[in-house]
Amino acid sequence: MSQPTLIFDAHLDLSMNALEWNRDLRWSQERIRRWEQSMNDKVDRGNNTVCFPEMRRGGIGICVATQIARNSGYFHKLPGWSSPEQAWAQTQGQLAWYREMEQQGELVQIRNRSELDKHLELWKNGPNEDDLRDVAVDSRTPQKKRPIGYILSLEGADSMVTLKHLERSYADGLRALGPAHYGPGRYAHGTDAGGPLTPIGRDLLKEMQRLGIILDVTHLCDETFWEALDLYEGPLWASHQNCRALAPWNRQFADDQIKAVAERGGVLGMAFDAIMMIPGWVHKKSKPAEFQLKIERICDHIDHICQLTGSAKHIGIGTDLDGGYGKEQTPMDMDSIADLQTIPGLLRTRGYAEQDIDGIMWRNFVEFLRRVWE
Ligand SMILES: [Zn+2]
Repeated sequence: MSQPTLIFDAHLDLSMNALEWNRDLRWSQERIRRWEQSMNDKVDRGNNTVCFPEMRRGGIGICVATQIARNSGYFHKLPGWSSPEQAWAQTQGQLAWYREMEQQGELVQIRNRSELDKHLELWKNGPNEDDLRDVAVDSRTPQKKRPIGYILSLEGADSMVTLKHLERSYADGLRALGPAHYGPGRYAHGTDAGGPLTPIGRDLLKEMQRLGIILDVTHLCDETFWEALDLYEGPLWASHQNCRALAPWNRQFADDQIKAVAERGGVLGMAFDAIMMIPGWVHKKSKPAEFQLKIERICDHIDHICQLTGSAKHIGIGTDLDGGYGKEQTPMDMDSIADLQTIPGLLRTRGYAEQDIDGIMWRNFVEFLRRVWE
């Protein structure tokens, strides 16, 4: 097989899979699926699409990887931790896992422009012998592999006990933060919720701006989205975000929101959760085959954003694969994250220029980071 196209995936919940799903992401996809065959504690058991071997096979050489832990108050309807302190501790466990994967040669953390450029060199122009690490695949014979680059982000800010914790996280490499996730939050309200930023949410944005942390506007409810854009003057992106016009639900952005992100120089990462791709999906009930949902559907979202913003410069990939669901809720032809490699061909068929395809697959997010980390 020829060298796969490099892919930048702006949203993967890697540590959540490791610690809450108990998936060893060094295993092959087949090994994880087999191990999960008799499990039924989560809806997506045996349906995973992401692991390090598949990321390497699919050319996903760089990603934004999350820490994630909700604080759910007394009788809150969404799952989460009873206190911000417990949520913080959960994210610190997740960080410990990322650190261990760095030790194992699977991952390398990217915190600034020189680390970014060095890492791209490794993935674009092929590795020098010294850049390779011994990685044990399926705990068998170690093989020489390139580490996958990751930029640390936080999805939902509930776990930030105080703003001092944000400063500590920045020192640990945190470079992007989405203040909200699903439902109400301590700092901001997210998908399916409503209302303005809380007073500490406004302080959080100021502190993020001071530290140079990217604001991830994905999951912000509409009211907070507009308030945050007014208040925050730093860099912003929407890490995993499709179009409401094509999949009506508040989780997706309306056309004016997409335009606003583009006007601020932001990039939107195209997500592959079926519910974000098509209208009419019923959570935990619908099946991809009922809609004949294929990866190609994402090209409709890409076309739509091109029409709205007048270029392909604000579009990237932010799959959200294995973000609490598996192949039961992805396009029928998305069995593994490596199937992202079919996208360049699909875009070519629609007449996209090679330069735009490269932009969508990796360069738009990389250029964004280069500007921010100047
Ligand atoms: Zn999400």
